[in-house]
Amino acid sequence: MPYSRRRFSRSDERAYARSNAITAIRVLPSAVLRTRVAAVAAALATEDRRRVELASQQVLDEFCQLLRVAPLRVEVCGKRPTNHYGELHGLYTPANGTATRDRVQVWMRTARRLQVVAFKTFLRTLLHELCHHLDYEYLKLECSFHTEGFYRRESSLVYTALPRTTERRVREPLAGGALRVARSIPGLEQSP
Ligand SMILES: [Zn+2]
Repeated sequence: MPYSRRRFSRSDERAYARSNAITAIRVLPSAVLRTRVAAVAAALATEDRRRVELASQQVLDEFCQLLRVAPLRVEVCGKRPTNHYGELHGLYTPANGTATRDRVQVWMRTARRLQVVAFKTFLRTLLHELCHHLDYEYLKLECSFHTEGFYRRESSLVYTALPRTTERRVREPLAGGALRVARSIPGLEQSP
């Protein structure tokens, strides 16, 4: 696993506490955003990977513009990779100062049956990966932890994208809270 499991330093503890304390990302209402989110649903219905990728890129571009942070490159892939932990849903890879952009990858087909992922599941994964980006670029956290606050921020982004949704997925912080996506290590995402 690419997650760091080393002992928490004092600065890790401070970053974890700060991550946990921030429970929402405020984004101004945007008709452009809502239109672009609807385009992702329409693109998924066509099952055309390239269309889904373009639509997803436009959603994250709008979020990044609204929040005035550096844009990301979105890559939509086909069948989810698997290992003994389960299926990989998405991946955030920071550029780490290289010439490339920070990158988000999201997989659009399930591993076993190759079905196209449900729209809300796909959108939540996309916004989960955006949330890691915002931890660094918007909140200026040194590390991006899967804290309870992180999942609340993820939910706030979903609510911004789909204001009428009442879905609130309750999730516990991962074991010991010791899992993180470090700046220097690409973070693998395995949502249950
Ligand atoms: Zn994550």
